[in-house]
Amino acid sequence: MSQREWIEKDFYKELGVSSSATNEEITKAYRKLARDNHPDANPGNAEAEQRFKAISEAKSVLTDPAKRKEYDEARQLFASGGFGRGGGGFNPNAGGFGGGGQTFDVGDIFGQGGGGGDGGIGDLFGGLFNRGGTQQRTTTNRPRRGSDVETETTLGFREATQGVTVPLRLTSPSSCTTCHGSGAKPGTSPRVCPRCNGAGVVNRNQGAFGFSEPCDDCRGTGSIIDDPCQDCRGTGVQNRTRTITVRVPSGVSDGQKIRLAGQGEAGLRGAPSGDLYVTVRVRPDKVFGRTGDDLTVTIPVSYGELVLGTTLSVPTLDGRVGVKVPPGTVDGRVLRVRGRGVPKKTGTAGDLMVTVKVAVPQKLDDPATEALQTYLEAEKASGFDPRAGWAGA
Ligand SMILES: [Zn+2]
Ligand SMILES: [Zn+2]
Repeated sequence: MSQREWIEKDFYKELGVSSSATNEEITKAYRKLARDNHPDANPGNAEAEQRFKAISEAKSVLTDPAKRKEYDEARQLFASGGFGRGGGGFNPNAGGFGGGGQTFDVGDIFGQGGGGGDGGIGDLFGGLFNRGGTQQRTTTNRPRRGSDVETETTLGFREATQGVTVPLRLTSPSSCTTCHGSGAKPGTSPRVCPRCNGAGVVNRNQGAFGFSEPCDDCRGTGSIIDDPCQDCRGTGVQNRTRTITVRVPSGVSDGQKIRLAGQGEAGLRGAPSGDLYVTVRVRPDKVFGRTGDDLTVTIPVSYGELVLGTTLSVPTLDGRVGVKVPPGTVDGRVLRVRGRGVPKKTGTAGDLMVTVKVAVPQKLDDPATEALQTYLEAEKASGFDPRAGWAGA
């Protein structure tokens, strides 16, 4: 289990104890809650089952001095803003992204990432609840899928609208190359834990109920490594920096997330890897704006061009096009150029929306000023009154 997942959880709150609670207090609180929420006492009650899992997890961390210390430190770091970027914070729960619109799933473009190891308390409960109370499990724990990983990349406006392939550097736990994720020194292999027979949990009778508790001997993994791999200290996981190439599809917008299946953290001992979520940031463009699949652009024009009509040379993502402005076009009118917007997945594209905006000269030379005065008189004589029909007249 990653630190991120830990710090998202409040184990103290889960058990209803203070963060300075002693081991005895924690164990006592856990026993009471475990009794109330034990699956055997609440058959078919999914809520109780979830609760039981949660308190068991909380207890297994808080009663292990090393884990508790790590957890406390991780939370402290999190609280002080040591994690995350720009106040956005982490959301390891990658399935639940809200608000950001659609998530691109481009996992199919890439090969599956390798398997690998990531030990941790998340493993303790695999399969615990789907078997009868007396049934003995002989296989080892079902491997746990690796955690999802989040990262960010910034693209130029035109790259984002047209699609681009970018390299991403990632540092994350990956399967140890020395022991191939087993955690055991090469040439040796982990053995099945004799105490729990590889189940990772042991049964214990306490009052009216039988308890399943994580096995202490193997720390819930179901196997024991006598001769740990030197390179990963028996965890089966190494931090590795890797560069992957991500093809960002055309039309991605600022804040959107791209999912890369299997490019997250390696799973425990050959379990599937988690997914990688890339949040795409898009730098604004000097010329274009964007509304959905439509590109927007504002073109300065003169009053005369609007009155008499003209053909404007308008930039697009792909060269320039001539846009006809009909005579008598009003200031601020939006002209649509079909199919010259943001390319879509379907092969078509949005439109280019051209807004015309009158640029007023701040200074005219004498001939121009004279001509304009003459024109204004002629305009008036022709019957034009700019404020005719205006409510404020
Ligand atoms: Zn190793
Ligand atoms: Zn064991």
